[in-house]
Amino acid sequence: MFEIIDKHGEHEEVVFIRNKDVGLKAIIAIHNTTLGPALGGTRMWDYKSDEEALVDVLRLSKGMTYKAAAAGLNLGGGKAVIIGDPKTKKTEAMFRAFGAYVNSLQGLYITAEDVGTTVRDMEYIFMETPYVTGIPKEFGGSGDPSPYTAHGTLMGIKATVKHKLGTDSLKDVHVAVQGLGNVGSNLVEFLHQEGAKISIADIDKEKVKRYADQYGADIKDPVGIVTSECDVFAPCALGAVINDQTIEGLKCKMVAGGANNQLAEPRHGGALKEMGILYAPDYVINAGGLMNVFVELEGYSAERAKTKTTQVYDNLIKVYEIAKDQDITTEAAANVLAERRLTDIGGLRQHHQGRMSRPFSTLKEMTNRQK
Ligand code: NAD
Repeated sequence: MFEIIDKHGEHEEVVFIRNKDVGLKAIIAIHNTTLGPALGGTRMWDYKSDEEALVDVLRLSKGMTYKAAAAGLNLGGGKAVIIGDPKTKKTEAMFRAFGAYVNSLQGLYITAEDVGTTVRDMEYIFMETPYVTGIPKEFGGSGDPSPYTAHGTLMGIKATVKHKLGTDSLKDVHVAVQGLGNVGSNLVEFLHQEGAKISIADIDKEKVKRYADQYGADIKDPVGIVTSECDVFAPCALGAVINDQTIEGLKCKMVAGGANNQLAEPRHGGALKEMGILYAPDYVINAGGLMNVFVELEGYSAERAKTKTTQVYDNLIKVYEIAKDQDITTEAAANVLAERRLTDIGGLRQHHQGRMSRPFSTLKEMTNRQK
């Protein structure tokens, strides 16, 4: 276990949780709290082995540090995994026990919904700890983050178009959106308001037809859309859509969408650069949802959350400038942006000990929310 932890980055703390009475086996990984409390969702998954779960939580928590840092948020990176089949193994007692463990970390780690967990599960966790975000609006939470992820993605598409084509407007820019789920459907609506030319695809044929009628969008095949003729390809469904099978067929000028893990492997980022296709690193362009929960920690306002997501535009412009200056991939440039902030703010904190605002000041607000 310790070898695996050493191999996957310099985590501050890794907590193993076992409660046999409620069938709970979980791991919380706190990667870095330089900028603030470690925030990241709780994933419930039927991992084949405990090692597999550990590697996943270590990798995902490190990713959260980079995501928050590049987004300009005062949050650190963390993540939790619950080992078990989310379809059959969930109970109220399990999530409340998990909430009690999260509480014992006193705000060092803040959890949220993720793959395999739901808002309902977050409600159980909230019964035991205030250190959970993305709780329903009726409890003072921010509810579904997807419209904010979509709005941030729109801002990211604008920044990408500005950098690549030099224009401020999306009017008549052809955007191909793969996936009309929570993020994609909101994005299509925003793109329509901007006057973009839209192509859409989803495996749900009925939904595609409905959106095509409503927004005058062109329907594409769910697989074919990846290599279709367009200005911007916006992946909003699955991960790994840029892979060995698709990359040579790409006809877009830009890849900018909300999906996680769009590149099958980092080398595909290098290939996009070679081909002259501008890639908006996924974790930078889809940070709108994280910005939304950050606003929830401060005391929620939908208007402030929406304004906050416009920062995705500036963040991506910075990424593109670094990539150009250093002649590196945009993904590598995003990592540079995140690491710079961690070094700069970490250094400032050391220098001005005690005189800077505490990175954990948001926690006071969280504990004020009503159960
Ligand atoms: P979702 O499950 O609501 O939507 C996914 C959509 O993709 C569904 O409509 C599904 O039918 C469709 N789909 C599945 N396979 C497809 C295929 N082969 N071709 C075309 N469409 C296909 O998910 P979501 O919340 O909209 O998230 C979409 C992506 O964005 C995911 O990768 C997710 O990790 C990422 N993301 C979401 C958020 C958020 O706030 N929801 C935040 C950050 C990142």
